[in-house]
Amino acid sequence: MNTGPEETAGPGGPHPAGCGPHPDGLRRFATIWSRAVYPTTATCMTRAEFEEHLVPLAELLSSTLHARPFDPGPARAVGTALVAAHCTAPESLPQILGVVDAYLLLYCADPALLPPEEGRARCARLQHAIAAGFARALQERTRAEQESLSRAALAAQSEIERALHESETRFRAVFEGATIGIGIAALDGTVLETNRALNDMFGDTERHHLSSRKVTSWVHPDDGPAVWRMYDELVRGEREHFRTEKPYHRPDGTVLWTHLTVSLLRDPDGSPRYMLALMEDITERRLLHLRLRYEATHDALTDLPNRTLFFERLEQTLARGAQTRFGLCYLDLDGFKTVNDSLGHAVGDQLLVAVAERLQTCVNGPGQLVARIGGDEFVALVADPACSGDVTDLAERALEALSTPVLVDGRELPVRASIGIVDGPAGERTAAEVLRSADITMYRAKAQGGNRYELADPDSDARVISRHSLTNRLPAALEGQEFFIEYQPLVRMSDGSVEGAEALVRWEHPRHGVLGPDRFIPLAEHTGLIVPLGRWVLEEAVRQACEWQVRGIGGTRPLRVNVNLSPRQLSHPDLVAETVAVLENAGLPPHSLCLEVTESAMIRADDAELKPLRQLAELGVGIALDDFGTGYSNLASLRRLPASTLKLDRSFTRGLQHHPADPVDLKVVEGIVSLAHVLDLSVTVEGVETAAQAEHLRALGCDSAQGWFYARPGPPERMAVELPLAAAH
Ligand code: C2E
Ligand code: MG
Ligand code: MG
Repeated sequence: MNTGPEETAGPGGPHPAGCGPHPDGLRRFATIWSRAVYPTTATCMTRAEFEEHLVPLAELLSSTLHARPFDPGPARAVGTALVAAHCTAPESLPQILGVVDAYLLLYCADPALLPPEEGRARCARLQHAIAAGFARALQERTRAEQESLSRAALAAQSEIERALHESETRFRAVFEGATIGIGIAALDGTVLETNRALNDMFGDTERHHLSSRKVTSWVHPDDGPAVWRMYDELVRGEREHFRTEKPYHRPDGTVLWTHLTVSLLRDPDGSPRYMLALMEDITERRLLHLRLRYEATHDALTDLPNRTLFFERLEQTLARGAQTRFGLCYLDLDGFKTVNDSLGHAVGDQLLVAVAERLQTCVNGPGQLVARIGGDEFVALVADPACSGDVTDLAERALEALSTPVLVDGRELPVRASIGIVDGPAGERTAAEVLRSADITMYRAKAQGGNRYELADPDSDARVISRHSLTNRLPAALEGQEFFIEYQPLVRMSDGSVEGAEALVRWEHPRHGVLGPDRFIPLAEHTGLIVPLGRWVLEEAVRQACEWQVRGIGGTRPLRVNVNLSPRQLSHPDLVAETVAVLENAGLPPHSLCLEVTESAMIRADDAELKPLRQLAELGVGIALDDFGTGYSNLASLRRLPASTLKLDRSFTRGLQHHPADPVDLKVVEGIVSLAHVLDLSVTVEGVETAAQAEHLRALGCDSAQGWFYARPGPPERMAVELPLAAAH
C-alpha cells in the first residue's frame, strides 16, 4: 500500500460517526483506490476517468457493507467490474484489497449504523467476495481469450491450408500445363516427378519410363565434355545451375536433343535438396541447323564438302602447329572445258559426279577429306600423313581411279587430271599460301602434258606468276598497250604460196616477259576483258592486213588474216556491227578476214547464237572451225554450221610425222578431209612441223597448212621476208 498519511487528511477526511457514509468519503475512497490500482491496470482510461469509474463501485461496497441482513454476494460484482476494467496484472488484486481493507470502513461506513467490530468482520467478508468475483472474472476472461485465440488460430490454420492448396494448385497447373519439359530429381539422381511435356518429349505417354530412373543413366556419347562435371558440382552445392545442349536416347531408339537448364533447389536453411531440370526439345531446330550447315558446306552437285568446309579443315589442320604434318592434292581435270562446251553442261555435270565418286573411294583414312572447290577442281586433304609417300600414294590412287573412261549417256568419256601436291609441317604457311602453291604446282603438271602429279617446290613457286596477279593486271595491260600480235603464215598446199596469216596475241609483261595466250586468254575470258581485248586484236589485225594489201605483199592474191574469237565474244550482241565497222573503217573486203571459232564453242551454240556468225558469213567473212577433232562433235552436225573452213587439230598430224605414217591416222585424216569437202569446207591443218607431215597432208587433199615447218608466229614485218621462204617448201 503506498497511500501516505496525507491521504487520510483533507476535506474528504473521516467524519464524525452517526450520519452514514459521507458522499465526500466515497469520493475520497475512490481517489485513494484509483491511485493505488491505476498503475497496475492495462486500461485505456485516463486516471480521472478510472477514478470516476470506481465511484459507483465504492457506493456498491458501502451499501453492501450496511445492508441488513448482510450479504457479501453483491461485492463479487466489484471484482468482476475491476477485471473488466483491465485491472488484471498480478499485483492488481493485492492493491485493490489493500485499499478496501484500510479505507473502506474509514471513508464508507457509518459508525452509527455499523458497530466497528461488525464493520471489520463485514469488511473482511466483502474482500473475500471481491476476490472471488475477481478470480472468477479473470478465469472467464482467460478462457474467453484462449477461446478466441484458438478460434483465431483455427481460422489462421485453415487460411494457411487454403493458401498452400492454392499455391500447390497453381504449381500443379504450371507444372502439368507447361510446354517446356520439367523434371524434379533427388540429389542421388532419382527422378521424382516429370511433367507431361517431358514425357511427351521422350515419347513416354504412359509415364513408365522416366520416373524413378537415375539421371546418371542418361549418359550419351554426344554429351558435351563439361556436362557431367557441372552436374557433379551442382549436386555438391558448388553451383546453382548450369545450361547446356544435351542429347537423350528415347525408348524407341531415336535421339532427343534438348536445351537443358538444371537448377539446384535448397532447403530454407540452405542445404541442397532437389534438382529441377527444364528441357526444351530442340531436335527439329537442330536438324534444320544441321541441314543448313550441311548445305552451306557441301557441293549440291557432287555432295562432296565444298570450298568453305575444305578451308575450315585446312585451317584447323594448319593450326595444329609444326609438330604435325599435312598433305594436300589439288586436282584439276584436263580438258573438262571441252567436254562442257561440246557435250553440254548436263554431260559435264554427270562427269563431275562420277569423278567425285571415284575420288571419294581413294580417301579411306581418318583425317582425309575430298572436296570440290571449283568447277572441275577437287582437293584431297590428309591431316597427318606419316610421310610424303602417303600423299603421293593418294595422288597415284586418284589418277588410277580416273583412268577408266566414264560412261555418260552411253558415251565413254576419257578422264585425265593434273595434280599439284603440297606437303610439309603445319603451322608454317596460311591456308591461302598452301592453296596457291598447290595451284601453281598443278599448273606445272598440266604444262608437262597433264594426267600426272607434281610436287610443290618453293623455288618454282617463287618463279611462277599466280593466275590471280595476272588477272588483276589485265585491265592495266590493255590500257598500257602491253599486248602485241604475232602472225603465223597459212600456206596453200597446192603450190606452197601464202594465202594469209593467223593473228596470235601475246602479252609483253613488264616483269615476266612475253606471255603466250594460253596463260591469259582463259583469264580474260573469265573476267570478260576478252571483249575489249578481242576487239583490239581484230582492229589491229584488220589494219595489218590492209597494210599488207596496200604494200602488195602476197602479190596478185591479197593476203587474208585469221583472227581468233572466244566464246564470250561470240555471244556479244555487237559482234556483227563492230566487225562490219572495223572492216569498213580499215577498208578491208570481208573475204580478207576469217574468224576462227573453236569447234567446242560452235557445236555448243544453238541457232540463235549461230545467227551472228551466219550473218558475217553471208557478208563474205570466212568462218573457220578451229582445233577440229578435240571436241566431241558429231560430224553430221557440221552441216548446220556457217563454217567455210575446218582447221584440223595438231593431234591428228602427230601420227604423220614420219615415213611410213601411222595407217590409222592416215585413214582418219583422209576420212575427215573427204567429208569436209563433201560439205564444201576447205581443210587447213595445224601444227605441221616436218616435211613428212606436209607431204602426207598434201597427198590426203588438205587445202592449206600452218606450222613451224613453214614458219613460226612472228612480227608482221616477217611476212614480207618469209613469203618467198614459204613458197620454196
Ligand atoms: P590456235 O588458234 O589453235 O592457234 C594455234 C596455236 O598453235 C598457236 O599457239 C601457235 O603458236 C601454235 N602453233 C603453230 N604452229 C605450230 C606447230 O607447228 N607446232 C606447235 N606445237 N604449235 C604450233 P598460241 O599462239 O600459243 O595460241 C594458242 C591459242 O590461243 C590459239 O590456238 C588460240 O585459240 C588462242 N589465241 C591466240 N590469240 C588469240 C586471240 O587474239 N583471241 C583469242 N580469243 N584467242 C587467241
Ligand atoms: Mg586459231
Ligand atoms: Mg587451232
